[in-house]
Amino acid sequence: MVGALILIATAWAQDCHYQTWSWSTRERRPVDIKQVVTSRAKLTVEERGTHEGCTVCEEDQTTLTIAGVSFKICRRYSQRVEQTLTELHRRGFPLKELEGYRVGKSKGPIDQKGLRTQFSHHSYGVAIDVNASLNGLYDNCVSFSPSCRLIRGGAYDHTKPGAVTPAIAELFKTQGFKWGGKLPGQQKDFMHFSPSGD
Ligand SMILES: [Zn+2]
Repeated sequence: MVGALILIATAWAQDCHYQTWSWSTRERRPVDIKQVVTSRAKLTVEERGTHEGCTVCEEDQTTLTIAGVSFKICRRYSQRVEQTLTELHRRGFPLKELEGYRVGKSKGPIDQKGLRTQFSHHSYGVAIDVNASLNGLYDNCVSFSPSCRLIRGGAYDHTKPGAVTPAIAELFKTQGFKWGGKLPGQQKDFMHFSPSGD
């Protein structure tokens, strides 16, 4: 009996399941949605990613519930994320929407079909979006101004409750997360935190 349980546990640990898609820059939506079942031993370099213990596999993720909002995040990062968000909640910051693990190719070069070709940091469960409807993703936005173009989420207004401010970004920084609202270059992603910020 114990032997059988160990066998089952071992088989589970070696499996890798995930659902993925590619972002179509022409249709402005995810396409080529597919379920992938593979084994740990066969993971490619891109499936493994660069964060130890955080691959695209569902098996590396855990579910956190904070202020009644549930999301998935890489198990290795869950303690730091939980501490940060619990502290925000304690300070009265409204947590309405949280999204972590979400596999998909939404960055990198665009192929001949107009599809993005690289996994985002969300794909590995090492990025988190906070209150997307209040903290939009913009392009054409070297510095934030009315000429920036909103491409995802809701308009950003730092005075609204639930909007991410530099003070909130500082709290994430103490746990090793950089803010997408301070990215150099054309994009500002006010909802987004990850180890690199992008
Ligand atoms: Zn994000």
